[in-house]
Amino acid sequence: MSAAISGSIERDVLECPICMDPLQPPVYQCAVGHAICSSCHASLMNKDMCHTCSATGGYNRCNALDKILESFRVPCTNAKYGCTAESHYHEADEHKKSCPHTPCFCPEPDCVFAGSTVALLAHLTGDHMWPSTELKYNFKLTVDVQEGIHALHNRDAGLLFLMKFTPVPPFGHATSVLCVDPHATATEEAECKFRCHLSSSNIDIGWQKTSDFQVRSTNLSEGLLAPEDGGYSFVAPNTASITVSIARIMRDKRGNEIRLKRLRQSLLPYAIAT
Ligand SMILES: [Zn+2]
Ligand SMILES: [Zn+2]
Ligand SMILES: [Zn+2]
Ligand SMILES: [Zn+2]
Repeated sequence: MSAAISGSIERDVLECPICMDPLQPPVYQCAVGHAICSSCHASLMNKDMCHTCSATGGYNRCNALDKILESFRVPCTNAKYGCTAESHYHEADEHKKSCPHTPCFCPEPDCVFAGSTVALLAHLTGDHMWPSTELKYNFKLTVDVQEGIHALHNRDAGLLFLMKFTPVPPFGHATSVLCVDPHATATEEAECKFRCHLSSSNIDIGWQKTSDFQVRSTNLSEGLLAPEDGGYSFVAPNTASITVSIARIMRDKRGNEIRLKRLRQSLLPYAIAT
């Protein structure tokens, strides 16, 4: 393999002037050399005349540009967070959608930490001393009610859930749950991917409450979602613990949530505490 040359190139050189998408082989060019992408070429009404310069004579394949596009690689924009992937320019967006190094942000005021959910969890528990517990989907977990935030992490999916307890005297604690997903934006109305079931009881006063709601996702770039902004709040009277279970939402082809026959939450198994 011959040595690589690095440098910079103007973005519009790599974009189709008709659809503005990144060019990818096979590229077509007019007799003068104006290049367009193959799908625009396929949908041109008049294939004999150049869209840019009106030269006649039609379009032909451009092997030189195809070869350049084949060999041209761009580093992932998450390189500063540790991603070493390089991809063809026209595949860079696709990579970014699933890049495991896409950062989420520390929600502590004045902290500038950003990193993958795995790095964020290590930071929250190590530097800010937040409590954390491993969570398995569809399993009940009992969490101690303690002012502040408890991180629930799912090892397989690399996602984090934050359970926030805010004292609201004299009633007890308001509890909210959100999902930290680096691929969700801070404010955009992302489709909820998880459903949460909370329950708490206080035997002494014969009190019990349960709640079931969809969990919003955020990358935390704007900090924690304010409850009045749609983040969910569950107020439990002073109680030592709350039971939580989180399930992935299944959707039909139209995107509507499929609700299995009312889940018998009381029959869900407890996760083995580790
Ligand atoms: Zn095009
Ligand atoms: Zn032309
Ligand atoms: Zn990447
Ligand atoms: Zn921090």
